[in-house]
Amino acid sequence: MTVEITVIPGDGIGHEVIPAAVRVLESLDLDVETHEAVAGDAVLEDTGTPLPDETIGLARETDATLFGATGHTSADVIIPLRRELQTYANVRPAVAYPGVDALHPETDLVFVRENTEGVYSGIEHDLTDDVSVLTRVITETASRRIAEFAFGHAVDRGADAVTIAHKANVMRLTDGKFLETAQAVGEHYPEVETRTAIMDALAMYLVLDPTEYEVIVSPNLAGDVLSDLAAGLVGGLGLLPSANLGEERGIFEPVHGSAPDIAGQGIANPAAAVLSLAMLLDHVGFPAEANRVDAAVQAVLASGPRTPDLGGDATTESVTDAIIDELAQ
Ligand code: ATP
Repeated sequence: MTVEITVIPGDGIGHEVIPAAVRVLESLDLDVETHEAVAGDAVLEDTGTPLPDETIGLARETDATLFGATGHTSADVIIPLRRELQTYANVRPAVAYPGVDALHPETDLVFVRENTEGVYSGIEHDLTDDVSVLTRVITETASRRIAEFAFGHAVDRGADAVTIAHKANVMRLTDGKFLETAQAVGEHYPEVETRTAIMDALAMYLVLDPTEYEVIVSPNLAGDVLSDLAAGLVGGLGLLPSANLGEERGIFEPVHGSAPDIAGQGIANPAAAVLSLAMLLDHVGFPAEANRVDAAVQAVLASGPRTPDLGGDATTESVTDAIIDELAQ
């Protein structure tokens, strides 16, 4: 049966790295049909909404979505889209690849970030001209669901430990609930060690020695910040893919944003988008092809050509060509 994929380039370098990933997909000649959809800043200007109903509908109907990045409208696009498709787990692997000048060349960890609540609940308002408030929502239901996902993922990966990142010493009720719930889930996985870490200290420990960690589960904002920190450890945002997963549909996207500073120059690193495609292929039933794409990206990162963020002078297009050549061998 043909696999149907929604493709949303979005804004900025989304228009460069997502077409690159689609070229890689097309070179594999799989029974996959792509449907392009729009979202983001430019669509808001043209139509008055950054996330048209047709885009949501297509993402709902198809088997998976490949998403680029959006600019100022991110909070009105990717967050509602994750919610619409009930993708409650944001999986962000941070791996240091051979040949890339990484701060910690042995890094190989994965963040499992709660995707539906926390400080990204969207419940924010002005009390007075002087005072703005945000409601941080933590539920036992979502905490249990993400912890079960993280421990299950650890078992699949053969990881020895899951670290629960929290700030329960200050946010006693909300992160207290997250921590307690995740620890209780951990008790059902005796083969995996349950560790806990206060999130600010964890940021320091990650910089000192990320090899101490394998799977890190956290509330929404902490996972967002810590995974970007990990991007810095392994060579930059151009390298980190991610998957938003739920019971069924998945949204796959590079961790990076629309990078307005380099957009339009043809020099964005396509690796994060192509690695996101690999995660998508694995999800929709092409695990062998996913591994091949992963290996091809790794080979090109090791041998070059490389884009400027990795110290090279290659273009998005020439790196993509090299990945496709590698796949053809
Ligand atoms: P946004 O507001 O859309 O999140 P941003 O610039 O704040 O955009 P990112 O897009 O994540 O955040 O970019 C952060 C930095 O990382 C920028 O200097 C950008 O050029 C760089 N960067 C991000 N992605 C890539 C990439 N694929 N290739 C090269 N550099 C990248």
